[in-house]
Amino acid sequence: MASSEIHLSAAVAGSRTSSREGVRGLTTGRELRPRNKVLPRDGRWHNRSLVLQTLYSAGGQSRADIARGTGLTRVTVSDLTAALIAEGLVVETGRREEARPGKPATLLDIPRGAFQIIGIDLSEYRLLRGAVLDLDGQILARAEVPLAGSRGDDATAKVIALTHLLVSRATAPILGVGVGSPGIVHSSGVVLGAPNLGWYSVDLQGILTSRLSLPVVVANDANVAALAEHSFGDADSDMMLIKVGHGVGAGLLLAGTLVMGNRFAAGEVGHVVVDAEQGARCICGKFGCLETWLSTPRLEATLAAAIDDDDARTQVLSEAGRQLGTVLAPVVAAVNLSEVVLSGPPELLDGPLALATLDTIRTRTRAEFYGGITVRMTELGEDIVVRGAAVLVLSRQLGVS
Ligand SMILES: [Zn+2]
Repeated sequence: MASSEIHLSAAVAGSRTSSREGVRGLTTGRELRPRNKVLPRDGRWHNRSLVLQTLYSAGGQSRADIARGTGLTRVTVSDLTAALIAEGLVVETGRREEARPGKPATLLDIPRGAFQIIGIDLSEYRLLRGAVLDLDGQILARAEVPLAGSRGDDATAKVIALTHLLVSRATAPILGVGVGSPGIVHSSGVVLGAPNLGWYSVDLQGILTSRLSLPVVVANDANVAALAEHSFGDADSDMMLIKVGHGVGAGLLLAGTLVMGNRFAAGEVGHVVVDAEQGARCICGKFGCLETWLSTPRLEATLAAAIDDDDARTQVLSEAGRQLGTVLAPVVAAVNLSEVVLSGPPELLDGPLALATLDTIRTRTRAEFYGGITVRMTELGEDIVVRGAAVLVLSRQLGVS
């Protein structure tokens, strides 16, 4: 598999939409670069996605507008829109007021209130978070379940409970369930390894699909956050998103394409050893992984000792930032990265930690080429993963985002 492919091969039992086994690339409003040649069998899905993307981005359009915008023939557009109307994914919304005489064009749109999406965020260590979202990625309802140290099957049971709770709060048919999970996640939605939740080879996507009878897609939490930053934030098309929560992960977007890696482990920077001599033992068994300085529980524990000492607090946060910068500097240099986006508790990340990260990257790379790099907080706050999970569902089910 090319590193540029994102695999969103959700199980689609119970889906209203037509489905296709295997791999499908993302197409988005801010277009993620097409990565595969379109094969003849992909043609219809591809054209269908073009029509849906046009309507999703632009709203009320006539069939002629869609043909002009997509380059598809009028006949193809008529055929596809008829099928989409039958599926309930497109509706006729009325006729356009025309200045000139003649029959006014019928306008089409995606019925944005007709479906909802469930987004689940498993990246935090105190709680599992979820939301019901509309097709524009706006949050309609929220729910949380305390994690309370649960691991393994207990953690899985809490995810199932949270998802059932959210399904019960949806007020429209559910297009799909998107889940951002920590750890290394196979394209089939199997969590290959998430040490913080005690999951090894857990088929989370399969379990949720069979429990819910809904389309489910599970992907790595940092990759999901990177999708949100790309769709709803202000990300460059070359960007690395660092997700700090229960652990530390990264999503890497290059030329608008999410890098998945040969074995789905791209961005697993949390278990890169930065200082085996000084570092604490990590949950993975090694000493001095980045995560032992940077994860939320580790940082909070270290800061607890410096509760009334601002200087000591700054020192702890700066040290964590230096370790992050040390891990990121070679990445910045290797791909000429221009932007690092941090996601996690702002009281920990936004300040000395982010400054030390930037300073370390600059010190360790050639400033004349990499000096323009920025390190900033996401503006999507704590909703970044649930909103990214909605993007995941939109791209999997409709080919849009
Ligand atoms: Zn580790």
